[in-house]
Amino acid sequence: MANKHDNEDLKQEEAKFATRLIHFGAEIDKATGASSVPLYQASTFHHFSLDNPPEYDYTRSGNPTRQALEDYIAKLEGGARGFAFSSGMAAISSAFMLLSSGDHIICTEDVYGGTYRLLTTILNRMSIETTFVDMTDLDQMKAALKPNTKAVFIETPSNPTLKITDIRAVADWAKEHELLTMLDNTFMTPYHQRPIEYGIDIVLHSATKFLGGHSDLLAGLAVTANESLGRRMKQIQNGLGNVLGVQDSWLLIRGMKTLQARMDVSEKGARRLAQWLSVHSGIDSVYYPGLANHPGREIHEKQSLGYGAVVSFDVGSGERAKQLMAKVKIPLVAVSLGAVESILSYPAMMSHAAMPRDVRLQRGITDGLVRYSVGLEDVEDIIQDLEQALQSVSSK
Ligand SMILES: *Cc1c(COP(=O)(O)O)cnc(C)c1O
Repeated sequence: MANKHDNEDLKQEEAKFATRLIHFGAEIDKATGASSVPLYQASTFHHFSLDNPPEYDYTRSGNPTRQALEDYIAKLEGGARGFAFSSGMAAISSAFMLLSSGDHIICTEDVYGGTYRLLTTILNRMSIETTFVDMTDLDQMKAALKPNTKAVFIETPSNPTLKITDIRAVADWAKEHELLTMLDNTFMTPYHQRPIEYGIDIVLHSATKFLGGHSDLLAGLAVTANESLGRRMKQIQNGLGNVLGVQDSWLLIRGMKTLQARMDVSEKGARRLAQWLSVHSGIDSVYYPGLANHPGREIHEKQSLGYGAVVSFDVGSGERAKQLMAKVKIPLVAVSLGAVESILSYPAMMSHAAMPRDVRLQRGITDGLVRYSVGLEDVEDIIQDLEQALQSVSSK
């Protein structure tokens, strides 16, 4: 009788997402039956025969533990090939290395602060120029097209104002103009959004966030929609050498197995929190794609299966935001998001500190804006904690 774990009996494509998270192909070690992917903590591999070289020969170029992770994310995103990098920024910068000097990128304006920094302080020196546009307005994006435009970079929902970009509309337009499309899917994860199904060429992740999920690891992932892009990414990953280490690859696989269970709890909490904040007199505005008045809600619901676990809100002033950060007891006050513990961050002085103030304000990242990443605590405790903190900050 065939062993169901080494043939295709358990059809990966047909299984539901929760099942695919656990039965991803390498969940049982073929050699020993071990219940987790072995840690191949080795930098190099013996050539038993020079004429018949081993499948893996050097860990920068390939390692079985990292490969298991790379196949895992490719499967979850529905892409051809996956790549694991030492951080989200390593994944994003590697994807940009597909471009050449003289190329032009169209990028969503409220992009992650690190991506903004990469484009405006590093890639610009290599004569790769970027136009930032409000991608909720497709005409703005189309108007940015130049003869040397080669790529479009999307983040949806965006960070931290959670604006929504119509993925299919951008991908279709980009294809007409033979532009490469890249999408930072960190906020949604493949559980809630699979951009390759909508025509995106490369999906990127800071796996430091929801995929890792425990604030104990830094990692980045990339998935290409097809093999030919995969071969080019492989060359870049091997050439730059910014691969994810073996131990962290293992730890990330461990975290990813519980992605759906964690996201379900955090997202439910985020929806409750957003509702509560939206009727609170101490709050000026709330940004969450699940709210009825969110301008991008309809588009988001077409392309995503959930609203995510991040809620941003404006408490009215920088002074009030700082006081709030000092008074809350439950969340970690920190950069980052997507962990078992709630994380409250202050974009103006943390993730978007690299952005000039006028640019920041223009992009809606006001001095009073804070971002709450809902963890696995009881949401009623989270709300009670925010209520006591809001009561003790100075009035508006
Ligand atoms: C954190 C983050 C990144 C950068 O990832 P690192 O793992 O910190 O390098 C990129 N994009 C988004 C949306 C992020 O939240």
